[in-house]
Amino acid sequence: MHELHLAEDILRKIREEAGTRGLGTGVKCAKIGLGQSRFTHMQELLEIFNDISGGIKLEIEVIPLKAACADCQTEFKPDKMRLNCEKCGSANIQMVSGNELVVKSLG
Ligand SMILES: [Zn+2]
Repeated sequence: MHELHLAEDILRKIREEAGTRGLGTGVKCAKIGLGQSRFTHMQELLEIFNDISGGIKLEIEVIPLKAACADCQTEFKPDKMRLNCEKCGSANIQMVSGNELVVKSLG
């Protein structure tokens, strides 16, 4: 149940952010940025979140995977299975984005 843990993480993050902004428990909707590598089933994630959030409307902006080659500095979009530079074939790869979980706005 990967998506359940993720939904809990998202909810925790939203509550933390709501606390920081002085919104308390009065959050009605939230917009978050979520890295593509963090979830597999968006629909399932939204349904689970609905079940546990107590009515917070969630909007998710997916942040695509991006990797960069440390040898030739090429940036590319990796698929999940292959982590070699598409230009020079190096395995010396760093993830640039795709693992984020950030609260963008609360309302
Ligand atoms: Zn390269």
